[in-house]
Amino acid sequence: MIYSDLILHSDQWQQLVAAFNQERLAHAYLFYGPAGSGKEGHAIELAALVNCQQPTNNGACGSCPSCIKVKNLQHPNIQLVVPLPRRNAIEKDDPPLKALRPADVDDLTDQFAAKARDPYFQIGLQGAQSILINSVRELRRTAYLKPGEAGWRAILIFQAEKLCTGVGAAANALLKLLEEPPDWTMFVLVTDRPHMLLDTIRSRCLGLHFPQLTSDQIAAFLQTHQGLADEEARVLAQVTGGNLGQARELASEDGTQLEKVQALLQDLLADQPTGWQQTVNDLALMRYRRSLEFTTRMQLLQLWFRDLMVLQKTGSEDQVIFSQRITDLHRYLDAHPAADWGATTAAVEQVISHLERNINPTLALTNMILDIREALNGQRRARTE
Ligand SMILES: [Zn+2]
Repeated sequence: MIYSDLILHSDQWQQLVAAFNQERLAHAYLFYGPAGSGKEGHAIELAALVNCQQPTNNGACGSCPSCIKVKNLQHPNIQLVVPLPRRNAIEKDDPPLKALRPADVDDLTDQFAAKARDPYFQIGLQGAQSILINSVRELRRTAYLKPGEAGWRAILIFQAEKLCTGVGAAANALLKLLEEPPDWTMFVLVTDRPHMLLDTIRSRCLGLHFPQLTSDQIAAFLQTHQGLADEEARVLAQVTGGNLGQARELASEDGTQLEKVQALLQDLLADQPTGWQQTVNDLALMRYRRSLEFTTRMQLLQLWFRDLMVLQKTGSEDQVIFSQRITDLHRYLDAHPAADWGATTAAVEQVISHLERNINPTLALTNMILDIREALNGQRRARTE
């Protein structure tokens, strides 16, 4: 195999390996399923398998010269197509990279390298709204030539739904290729949103569904591969809802997410809070720069308040999520005997929903803090919206 840390969907993978061994692979596949389930990693593994010089029963050998090139995503037989921004106007026959600025090309190179290391890394250039028709035209120029090396030319199209952006010119151009598939060429279209593809494209591909990973799989992965403690791994698995790419991204931030949310909580609950304005500024900035981490911070904060609410109302520790931090929870309860923890939970929920509707983050976050402060005294703030 190419990746040591891809969680294999065994049924789907064995189906592909069997088809390869029996020389009945389809010319075009559509890998679909929720984000972070590992579809792209499986597509790269398949591209490696069909070019491997010593394939095993389980997939590519991972060590032959061909596999080494795939591991760097630099195999001449493998073409990776991704959405690109259109910064410059380009002519019909121009290569797609001509639409980019030099800084975009550097960024893209770095992101390909990241993908080579991490099957769950999501390639995404800023402003990349569509797969450019020039990317498909470039495929058409090369697809009918014999592959440069023995094996199969594998054309992997990530975020394939973006073929259909706008009038769908890229999709129609690709359709012509799929209708007359070149010899020794295999297409793998990968998407989280198969319904956004043209029916005519979907019907020319053999669909393979990659289901969401379970929370247990993700938690086990985070412990094994990223060295997270059990509690942190479980909580991140829960808040990312089966998206291993997101869970990995959060786990790789400096410091643990649980410690960071606890620091935020202490700040919000302090007797003499002096750093609110700074907190608001930091959070608003995080929302722009690292929106996934911001959303997670808010979700975790909400879970803390929910735990406090449950403990206050039931006195029982059975339903507490942060059960390993029960001493802290009791400390907060004792410090704020009159608090309405249901209202603090609602205040965080409201900020999440406001920001989804693009309300000014500084305003929404300031309101959240004021609401929480009121709720600590058992009051609900009268709101004007
Ligand atoms: Zn190999």
